[in-house]
Amino acid sequence: MNTNELPESVIKEIHQISNVAGYLWQREWIERNGGNISINLTSFFDKNNIPESKRFMAQEFPSAAAGLFLFVTGAGCYIRSLVDEIEAASCIVYINEDASGYSIIWGGNSEGFRPTSEMASHLEIHMFNMENNPQNLAVLHSHPIELIILSHHPVFQDEKKLNQLIWSMCPEVRVYVPKGIHCTPYYITQSDDLAKSTIEGFKYRDLCLWEKHGATTTAPTIMEAWDFLDVANKGAKLLLGAWAAGFEPKGLTNTEIKDLETLFNL
Ligand SMILES: [Zn+2]
Repeated sequence: MNTNELPESVIKEIHQISNVAGYLWQREWIERNGGNISINLTSFFDKNNIPESKRFMAQEFPSAAAGLFLFVTGAGCYIRSLVDEIEAASCIVYINEDASGYSIIWGGNSEGFRPTSEMASHLEIHMFNMENNPQNLAVLHSHPIELIILSHHPVFQDEKKLNQLIWSMCPEVRVYVPKGIHCTPYYITQSDDLAKSTIEGFKYRDLCLWEKHGATTTAPTIMEAWDFLDVANKGAKLLLGAWAAGFEPKGLTNTEIKDLETLFNL
């Protein structure tokens, strides 16, 4: 189907994805074919009127993924292409009712297009969200520079301390990344261990910082997912800036942090 045939709410989300892709590129948080985005769009489509598609691929999925509509970026596609060529660099798939395959119902308009190889790990997060945080529809993975640098620092091994440091850099970080950062140990990309540890992190944190790799977050919309990365990375950048200038930052005091928690009901 063409973009103008999609539900209005889906078109809006696709425009937001293009905007976020532009932000990611400008901030140098993705390079080449790095990063990926997926959105659970199931609630925006009518199950009684499933769009026709000739592009069916057999693939076994967990039964919980049956009937899912998912926006997903393409394998090897560049995130920066989502700004101007979103229909070529991404697609919407519909996973059939017996979870034995998927159809591409929108996008994927480029030679040899396939959804990202990370689709399975994104699906695991979406299935976790459906059970535990059904408001979270967007999953965003990218390579925020200062957060990655921090994941190389010894403090990364102490999650509690890392969050205290980040939160104390300025009020916004405490308020807008309220559940903080999960320090996900290094595992090779696409591995089950990495997916498992990430889901473990989303049980109590807003963002999973993958050691020596990047950050993954989930939120109701792609813009809110971006905001988690943006604000958390601000905290990391301020902290590294203070260290680079040769001093230990004073940080918000415990009382100042407590006052924020009371004011914003955290
Ligand atoms: Zn990555």
